[in-house]
Amino acid sequence: MKKNLSNKQIEKYSRQIVLKNVGTIGQKKILNSNVLVVGAGGLGCPVIDYLSRAGVGRLGIIDYDKIDPSNIHRQSIYTFKDVGKYKVDVLKKKIMDINPDVKTKIFKSKITIKNVDKILKQFDIIVDGSDNFKTKFLLNKFARRLKKTLIVGAISKYDGHVFSFNFKRNNEACLKCFYQSEVNEEVLNCESDGILGPVAGIVGNIQANETLKNILNLKNELKDKILIIDLLNLSFRQSSFSKKKNCVCGEK
Ligand SMILES: [Zn+2]
Repeated sequence: MKKNLSNKQIEKYSRQIVLKNVGTIGQKKILNSNVLVVGAGGLGCPVIDYLSRAGVGRLGIIDYDKIDPSNIHRQSIYTFKDVGKYKVDVLKKKIMDINPDVKTKIFKSKITIKNVDKILKQFDIIVDGSDNFKTKFLLNKFARRLKKTLIVGAISKYDGHVFSFNFKRNNEACLKCFYQSEVNEEVLNCESDGILGPVAGIVGNIQANETLKNILNLKNELKDKILIIDLLNLSFRQSSFSKKKNCVCGEK
């Protein structure tokens, strides 16, 4: 592992270094970590914000959108001054202001079958902040094939779903195992259904938290489980699911 923490870094990260599961060893793991965030919207903003503050060493961001006035109510890093600019360009500057320890790698494009393999290979942990199931299933397929960690968030109206997959282990169920018969790829899209801003913030923050726990090698409470959040009734529950036969995760 790379060099020791500087005095400035010890001061900057002191409130998390003091935690039993972090310490200077954990902080060095965070500073050496390598995370890709797919989508810089309502989920991506809190993920990028908190991972930058925590000191994630290398942060990749892939997004092809410009900031629209209708984004601001939930996409917590942007302001009205940023409307019309590319999200990734704005984020690169803001991350530098938040924490110069973080190196950013920007991809101003859509993630597709053509580039997914090449991009995912460059990172250890993939955080899904996309707003559609076509992308989520694409990430599921390639993160599994490349044996990466994949942390998925999905939001709609007042509801959120969170998954955390460690595909280094071959026996884990995958995203398709859960949604196999349940979801049409066109549904569960916040653009069509609407979304309350803090729902995106809460789900994105849980994804950031699970990412840091993964970097610190802490137990994955979501192995073969989904976290289901209903913020209208303020309920958080976990539900187990198992590996399905004839799923993409059974393919070699
Ligand atoms: Zn599966």
